[in-house]
Amino acid sequence: MQKQLFINGVWQDPVVPGTLEVFDPFRGEAYTEVAAGGPADVDKAVAAAKAAFPAWRDAGGKVRAGYLAAIAAKLRERAEELARLSSRNNGKPIFEARIDMGDAASSFAYYAEQAIALEDKQNSNVAVPDGGFTARLRYEPAGVASLIVPWNFPLVTTSWKVAPALAAGCTVVLKPSEITPVVELELGVIAQEVGLPPGVLNIITGTGLAVGAPMTEHPDVAKVSFTGSNAVGARVMAAGAPGTKSVSLELGGKSPIIVFADADFDQAVECVLGGIFFNAGQMCSATSRLLVERSLAPRFIEALVAGARAIKPGNPLDEDTQIGPITMKAQHDKVLAYIEKGRASGLTLLTGGGKPESINGGWFIEPTIFTDVPTDSPLWREEIFGPVLCIRTFDSEAEAIALANDSSFGLVGTVVSSDEATANRVADALEVGHVWINSPQMIFVETSWGGFKASGIGRELGPWGMSSYLEIKHTTTRLSR
Ligand code: NAD
Repeated sequence: MQKQLFINGVWQDPVVPGTLEVFDPFRGEAYTEVAAGGPADVDKAVAAAKAAFPAWRDAGGKVRAGYLAAIAAKLRERAEELARLSSRNNGKPIFEARIDMGDAASSFAYYAEQAIALEDKQNSNVAVPDGGFTARLRYEPAGVASLIVPWNFPLVTTSWKVAPALAAGCTVVLKPSEITPVVELELGVIAQEVGLPPGVLNIITGTGLAVGAPMTEHPDVAKVSFTGSNAVGARVMAAGAPGTKSVSLELGGKSPIIVFADADFDQAVECVLGGIFFNAGQMCSATSRLLVERSLAPRFIEALVAGARAIKPGNPLDEDTQIGPITMKAQHDKVLAYIEKGRASGLTLLTGGGKPESINGGWFIEPTIFTDVPTDSPLWREEIFGPVLCIRTFDSEAEAIALANDSSFGLVGTVVSSDEATANRVADALEVGHVWINSPQMIFVETSWGGFKASGIGRELGPWGMSSYLEIKHTTTRLSR
């Protein structure tokens, strides 16, 4: 297990010595430590990335694609081992961690293809209406990119940034979350194994203040891509302003799932339970607000409660565990505080609300469901980031859409209905960046990811994910005087 910083292709200790404890949330105790980087390490990493940039940019998309494909192959080769590292550190069940590792590898494989496509479309002619001129279009990488990620999907949010940034020709300084640095550091090992040129990818572990903030302020950083909370996202944007940095933000959500009375019942139950209890609800895309058509509500809510109670908590590394602990103590306490707030304000708690009886130790919270939650309750309006579902009923399609859109966030939404026209009409009316119809939260790397409103700025994945690391340049030539 790597514990040092990865700068300019070399594993090294921080300039100012220090370590950070890394926790096992199933046991609720520290089990390893990693280097605590600081501003001087950020300076070194940015200098390495800046020095590596011209050659990486000029290597062209096809050469870069070779490295990305090799990284994808290594991720696939080591998938089981990496899934176990992630599961222990994050607390997610091993079956979920395996899905994450597959996603990470697919990202690198996809952006290898995109890097080739980028080279193929360089220097294309742009038709202009005056025959005395020609215009040529180029896409050029922005420069050094600072990439900052959270703890809920280790290696996934990271791959969604590192792969398109490298494909575009940017060089990278990556900051994993200080909560889940273990599996991200393995990306440095893989970079060495595939012979990625030194300085192209640098990884600095440390806190947000000591490492993240300097990464967003550094004058030699051209692009900042951040995934995390809204509070920090606002700081990242402000830090980028003086240097006019290009900033992409993937922030929080409070997403709706709308279930119509004509829905396939079992499919709807599956979509609702998966949308909030997968990864113990620690998903930016958690569909934490259920809107269910009134005529279906009694029977449907009864099935949800039974389903929630049947979700098996346990050691994340056990094959039959369905829900693990909350990843960190502070988040565990925050989720419990929301549940207490709900109880204290007289909300109807249908199930959950505490620690599962079968579990000793660890930061577990039961799948929890509140119903008839008023729209002005903090539980309805704020991102809880835990296994807490809030329910309301609706009487008409218009009411469902209005309730769904009544949020400061706009990341995702799910619609469950057996009427295709209804489902598509509602999907089109939702003010969100990604909608699922009758589907669990499948995310294909070819489609886009990102939110409306307070959920962020920009899009990841697909060609849009690479565009955010590219500058557009036109060269216009006068053919004769
Ligand atoms: P966070 O904002 O606390 O931390 C995210 C990262 O930012 C961490 O690496 C942290 O060290 C760093 N950081 C902290 N302060 C910083 C600063 N001043 N400058 C620069 N970097 C700083 O978020 P978190 O608790 O790790 O993650 C949970 C949040 O992430 C939730 O709000 C969730 O919705 C969001 N999220 C969004 C998406 C998405 O795609 N939209 C995906 C996953 C998580």
